[in-house]
Amino acid sequence: MISIAITAGLRARIYAHARRCFPAECCGYLRGPEAVDEIVECRNAHADGDHPTTPDRGEDSAFVIAGAELIAFARSFDTPSPARVVYHSHTNGRAYFSAVDRDVATANGGPTYPVQHLVVGLTATTIIEAAQFAWDGAAHDWVEVARWPIAESR
Ligand SMILES: [Zn+2]
Repeated sequence: MISIAITAGLRARIYAHARRCFPAECCGYLRGPEAVDEIVECRNAHADGDHPTTPDRGEDSAFVIAGAELIAFARSFDTPSPARVVYHSHTNGRAYFSAVDRDVATANGGPTYPVQHLVVGLTATTIIEAAQFAWDGAAHDWVEVARWPIAESR
């Protein structure tokens, strides 16, 4: 599994988005022609009850991109600058691919979209860690391909 390289600059912008959304989860994606070079912040529509698997869970444990933002995301795959990495935050401070994350990211035995995932774990005061996950066709599962311990207080 080769991880899509995410520059420190883009990661810093994702961390800033996660902090702005706290105590809710943030979500968005990175797009680019080869390397990712653009961040698209999305609104976490989970509070609207749109979540496909767990409508009763709060924003600290689920996220969903919906409406016009989901359409723009889906259309990006037909452009020269497709979405390549979807990101979201966990407000329990831990970066892992949860059972719900796996559910949403997987469809018909493969990835729902041709993207990797970045999860940021933060608390009210600190970005603790981040981890990146990619679909492993042989394992038929999402595997961790990169990890950043951060512990950066604001
Ligand atoms: Zn998650």
